[in-house]
Amino acid sequence: MIRIPAKVLIVDDEKDFVEMFSLRLKETGEKVFTAHSGQECLEKLAQERIDVVVLDIKMPGMDGVETLKEIKKRYPIVEVILLTGHGAIETAVEGMKLGAYDYLLKPADATEMAKKLEGARKRKDEHEERIRMAEQKSLLRRGGNI
Ligand SMILES: [Mg+2]
Repeated sequence: MIRIPAKVLIVDDEKDFVEMFSLRLKETGEKVFTAHSGQECLEKLAQERIDVVVLDIKMPGMDGVETLKEIKKRYPIVEVILLTGHGAIETAVEGMKLGAYDYLLKPADATEMAKKLEGARKRKDEHEERIRMAEQKSLLRRGGNI
């Protein structure tokens, strides 16, 4: 079966981390986009139909939690995985309560990352499928009423 690559947006102010992370993800066959700030993240989301955002919590200016809130307001179906350090797990928990799918501890382990990305992507696919089915049902019902 052909696997359609996920469109993943990596957002982190640490450029080296973004570069390393995107190389690893490209190796696994995903389509990777990058941003280095919350603002840039929102710009990329407006341009591309992204499936999963991997979002650093600690960024200057608009931080990860603020960015997450804005993502969920504008694109509620896009899944978000938060990147955090050992000292900030409670912020990740707060983020998950705001709609983030999960979090990854930095430096992110490749296997763990792949597993969580797959889960986030699956959740988005299933969500979209349920929306499509509901849309079809509403169209059928409308048709029946004529
Ligand atoms: Mg950072």
